[in-house]
Amino acid sequence: MYNAIIIGAGFSGIDAAIQLKKKGIHNFIILEKAASLGGTWRENTYPGARCDVESVLYSYSYEPNPDWDWKWSEQSQILQYMESTAKKYEVAMHIHFQKELVAAHWQETEGYWNIQTKDGVNYQTKVLITAIGQLHHPKVPNLKDSHIFKGHSWHSAQWNHEVSLKGKRIGVIGNGASAVQLIPEVAKEAKSMTVFQRTPNWILPKKDRLLKNWEKALLKQIPFIGKLGRFRIWLRNGTLYNVLIGKTVWMRKLQEWLSKKHLEKSISDKQLSTQLLPTYPMGTKRLLISENFYETLAKDHVQLSTSSIAKITPTGLLTQDGQQHDLDIIIYATGFKTNPFLLGLDIKGRQGTPIKTVWKEEPKNYLGMTINGFPNFFMMYGPNINLGSNSMLIMIEAQGKYIAECVTSLKKNNWKAIEVKSDVLNKYYEEIQQRLNKMLWANHENSWYKSENGIITNNWPGRTWEYIRRAKKVNYSDYHVYKD
Ligand code: NAP
Repeated sequence: MYNAIIIGAGFSGIDAAIQLKKKGIHNFIILEKAASLGGTWRENTYPGARCDVESVLYSYSYEPNPDWDWKWSEQSQILQYMESTAKKYEVAMHIHFQKELVAAHWQETEGYWNIQTKDGVNYQTKVLITAIGQLHHPKVPNLKDSHIFKGHSWHSAQWNHEVSLKGKRIGVIGNGASAVQLIPEVAKEAKSMTVFQRTPNWILPKKDRLLKNWEKALLKQIPFIGKLGRFRIWLRNGTLYNVLIGKTVWMRKLQEWLSKKHLEKSISDKQLSTQLLPTYPMGTKRLLISENFYETLAKDHVQLSTSSIAKITPTGLLTQDGQQHDLDIIIYATGFKTNPFLLGLDIKGRQGTPIKTVWKEEPKNYLGMTINGFPNFFMMYGPNINLGSNSMLIMIEAQGKYIAECVTSLKKNNWKAIEVKSDVLNKYYEEIQQRLNKMLWANHENSWYKSENGIITNNWPGRTWEYIRRAKKVNYSDYHVYKD
């Protein structure tokens, strides 16, 4: 019997493991469905894939890296960082690869979780920690006749590296966070490119650059400088939150003005810049950063289509305005199905109640980590934890510490189980939903932050420092503690 089993070896799972080890808990394993670690940073290998949070903040606070090459790191270096961190903290040896969770059932009488993986192996654990991320089910729109296309097509998170882009006519559907990164890179290779935009996005300039050798040396010699830089960026990103709440109008207007200037500087064609300028307030959808997305759209061989897609044809796609776009490759940069959370998994809590039943209407949760009816069960990067303006790793670390504390108390006190009280959960969940409903996110119908019934299921309504404060200490009076 393990003290804990963690599902997933991405940023969350690795942090949970490190926090457990820091508390002296070594009797745990990580079950990872793939053949290597890295989660989203293993899967997203599209050209131009990099982080849109500066690396000094998009890294664990306890594992600063003075060797980042870019201010905003490339996917390959982030993956390397994850691999070396897992090795350094001796987490790698706890990972069991190609072990996909299919079922997890709470054993009421004995007080443990029985886990089954796809290959039919069973595991028993006192505590179950899911760390499976929010963005790993690629969403491809159900376009009419998509099967008849004779060229190649793929999703941004399932990049086909076998097919050369050189000299091809390429269509990219979508203009979100992934698209703005891949479009400039793909355009460098393409003979022609059409970007199919449904909704324009607010974009701020990124100002990325290679870090100089003396800067890296300084960060290595005086780690405090890195800490200071991290603190500064954390505070700056935290103030962007004011854009999201929609109350601080001057802050929003200022950012909108900066974004508009960036657009006008890059694109002189008035019609094109009007098509790219959002008509909704900044913060309603995810704010993007890019240095070269607009510049790419201004190039002669790149065009923007704002007419919606009517259907796929054997040679490309047809838009509602009647135009046929002949293409060799269609790239779906159309995002992810984010609302299944754990719903695709057979997780059963007390009295064999499936999570699907408890979350039928909405994924009610406490601190994005626990659910009533599911003792000794913790989620990392669960519902209502995603951010609009800061590094997810801050939230992940706060959760890792909280969960490690719970696992330690269960072991030390020989408790059978802990389970969040339903009144505590309901009061908390009601509060965050009320706050979310007052934010700009509530105004946007089509975002991945919301469930089909319009509830904001993915995002946290406050700043990161509020979450750190609320998750800093485990208040056991929030939980039923079962001693035998
Ligand atoms: P996304 O933000 O959900 O964007 C999907 C895009 O596809 C949108 O432009 C959307 O248009 C469009 N789209 C979807 N269905 C369509 C359809 N049927 N017809 C036409 N257009 C359609 O997905 P993403 O760009 O993959 O980004 C997802 C999330 O991943 C981001 O929000 C971010 O959190 C994360 N991400 C992070 C980084 C990073 O650097 N840290 C990088 C990339 C992604 P609408 O806007 O009209 O819906």
